[in-house]
Amino acid sequence: MKKIISKIVAVCLCILVMQPAVAQSSGEKIRLLIVDGQNNHGNWPQTTQLMKGYLEETGLFDVDIATTPPEGGDMQIFKPVFNNYKGVVLNYNGDAWPKETNDAFEAFVRNGGGVVSVHAADNAFPEWREYNKMIGLGGWGNRSEKNGPYVYYNQDGKIVRDSSPGIGGSHGKFHAFKIVTRNKKHPITKGLPLTWMHNKDELYDRLRGPAENMDILATAYSAKDQNGTGRDEPVMMVIRYGKGRIFHTTLGHANESQQCVGFITFFQRGAEWVTTGKVTQKKPADFPGEDKISVRR
Ligand code: ZN
Repeated sequence: MKKIISKIVAVCLCILVMQPAVAQSSGEKIRLLIVDGQNNHGNWPQTTQLMKGYLEETGLFDVDIATTPPEGGDMQIFKPVFNNYKGVVLNYNGDAWPKETNDAFEAFVRNGGGVVSVHAADNAFPEWREYNKMIGLGGWGNRSEKNGPYVYYNQDGKIVRDSSPGIGGSHGKFHAFKIVTRNKKHPITKGLPLTWMHNKDELYDRLRGPAENMDILATAYSAKDQNGTGRDEPVMMVIRYGKGRIFHTTLGHANESQQCVGFITFFQRGAEWVTTGKVTQKKPADFPGEDKISVRR
């Protein structure tokens, strides 16, 4: 009897030990969809390819691209099946999508789909209330106090929500600037340097939005001598929408902005976090220094 029991225990243990190995050996990649097709940034076909490459080189993702019709085209045909993916990367700033597509996107995120919003994607859809909840903050497109407060850090390191009237969205000169982590415990930021120099980019400021369920991961000082606000402006944030996770980076204007290793690292980690809730990627050896940019060309 003792022998039989120990045999059963051994078999059970064996199954227990084997299970994770089986799960790992399936090697299934995370399916992601990049949405593009219209943008006031004419380099969008190039940034889509840059971002697709960054995602694929992690070995974690399979990436498809959904391209909308051009500006003024028949948008009724744009109906990607979001539910075939774990996450959607937004590289889009253009005409409104059909209501059916908006509804499908809202349901996708509410039910746990991940979203990565890159640079001018936060200019898109000023009238789409749920989209603005997902991105937390946005700019341009006649955004104003009706869209929500300005959100930034003051000199005492406190978050300010400022509902005073005024435009939503502006930026100073295209220049290199320092990024400061505000939440070092988040999986996306954890283990990375707390300050680093970002290659030349637009530093978005005066963004406004509902900013609900939003956590600012990092800010950058928008210097007045670069035509900025003199505020520490949010440049990376995470937002919860239903069961969905969103990573929003305001960075990534030009190709050289996206070739910054800091941009790449946070983008790759953000995509993993929104789709799995975890980050397994390590800090790359060529991550920027506190005063030293690092660019991959
Ligand atoms: Zn831009």
